[in-house]
Amino acid sequence: MKQESTPHVLIVGAGITGLLVAQGLKKASHPLPLPHEGIRCTIFEAEPSATHYRPREWGMSIHWSLPFLRDCLPDELLSRFKSTTVDPSYEPPDNFLIPTINGKTGELMKALPLGLLYRVARRKFRSLCAEGMQVEYGKTLKSIEYRDESVVAMFEDGTEAVGTLLVGADGAQSRVRMNLFGEKGKAKGIPYSAINMHIEYKDAEKAQFVRSIHPIMSHAVHPDGYWIWISIQDVPNPNDPSTWMFQLMSTWKAREGENVTSLEALREKARHFAEPFRSAVEWIPEGTRVFENKVSCWITEPWDNHQGRIVLAGDAAHPMTFQRGQGLNHCIADASKLKKCIKEAASGTKTWVDAIDEYQREIVERGGDEVKTSLANTAMLHDWSRVVQSPLFQRATAPTEKFAHSVPVAAKL
Ligand SMILES: Cc1cc2nc3c(=O)[nH]c(=O)nc-3n(C[C@H](O)[C@H](O)[C@H](O)COP(=O)(O)OP(=O)(O)OC[C@H]3O[C@@H](n4cnc5c(N)ncnc54)[C@H](O)[C@@H]3O)c2cc1C
Repeated sequence: MKQESTPHVLIVGAGITGLLVAQGLKKASHPLPLPHEGIRCTIFEAEPSATHYRPREWGMSIHWSLPFLRDCLPDELLSRFKSTTVDPSYEPPDNFLIPTINGKTGELMKALPLGLLYRVARRKFRSLCAEGMQVEYGKTLKSIEYRDESVVAMFEDGTEAVGTLLVGADGAQSRVRMNLFGEKGKAKGIPYSAINMHIEYKDAEKAQFVRSIHPIMSHAVHPDGYWIWISIQDVPNPNDPSTWMFQLMSTWKAREGENVTSLEALREKARHFAEPFRSAVEWIPEGTRVFENKVSCWITEPWDNHQGRIVLAGDAAHPMTFQRGQGLNHCIADASKLKKCIKEAASGTKTWVDAIDEYQREIVERGGDEVKTSLANTAMLHDWSRVVQSPLFQRATAPTEKFAHSVPVAAKL
């Protein structure tokens, strides 16, 4: 791979991963530590426009990856990071404790220590990450070719783009991954049903009661095999609880023929839950939409990176279950690692091939470990005899042991 010309990185997918990769590479190029014009980056996104509305929304907890986020975003965006949290008026403690409740009795099973944590609203956080980025919308990747020393992204609209490196940041159902692995690259569904929804009680007393257990989030494990989660999703006015919006998630072992998105069926399940989970469900206003989350997983494997011309990042590299709150943290860590490796390659301290190989090794090990850990965690959370042995109870949200030692200590943003 030539190193004397400006590398051109083609990023497929303008989700948070793709945007953070681009932000990180931009930051690596300014001020110019590199012996040329820096690193060129183009992002291609299948969605038709920046304002394209995605009806699904959720909050995401950012914890161990905070130092990597700091590494990728410019100071100006970091200074506004807190505005993307679910409640910007909430000052997180140095050690966030999430109440974990016995869903049947209401007893506190454990206050899980999560360290410093910010819970961001996905839409707001993605918008922040998109600031200053040029995204080519309406570009759905169709196939990939390798020509001479370049990689070529071919799009469904008949256009193509030629680059030094293609970053597959196209999410859990990644076409880039399918291109690399064929059928073996297909993420597999899991035998659990998962729902996610947003609730506006539009009633101050109800909202305060639901939030009474914790200002940001809490969850319960029910001996009958249910996991249920409540968090605050939006706080337009901290002093007026009737404006607050909540996120509710629940998972359970899948049953043949069940109507997963039925609000009535959810209410029936929640009748057996302790407070405030029972009322949180009972009070859901009629007509509130219940979304099913089709969770799928793929255990990260080494891919043929064609002499450093193609990599996977984010959910494309390691789609996983979400109860341990790891997916986005790994996306952020991927972006930071890729920034480091590309910078070394572009500045000549490493060959391009060695740098990309180093990136790939970490993603396969760190991502693959976490996909397996999160899967085991999901199974254990739904099996009462094993709940307290689950990775969540044992390690809370800490990254897997092999990687934990290389994570810097997080400081407030
Ligand atoms: C309910 C839920 C709760 C979660 N909670 C947490 C949490 O608390 N903490 C945490 O760390 N993680 C959490 N996660 C995981 C986290 O949301 C994901 O890991 C993260 O958002 C993935 O981002 P991404 O950019 O890799 O993928 P995506 O957001 O899926 O982005 C991929 C992008 O690629 C585009 N694309 C797809 N195909 C193509 C194509 N062929 N050509 C061009 N573009 C394409 C898509 O349109 C999309 O914009 C949660 C996930 C869920 C579902």
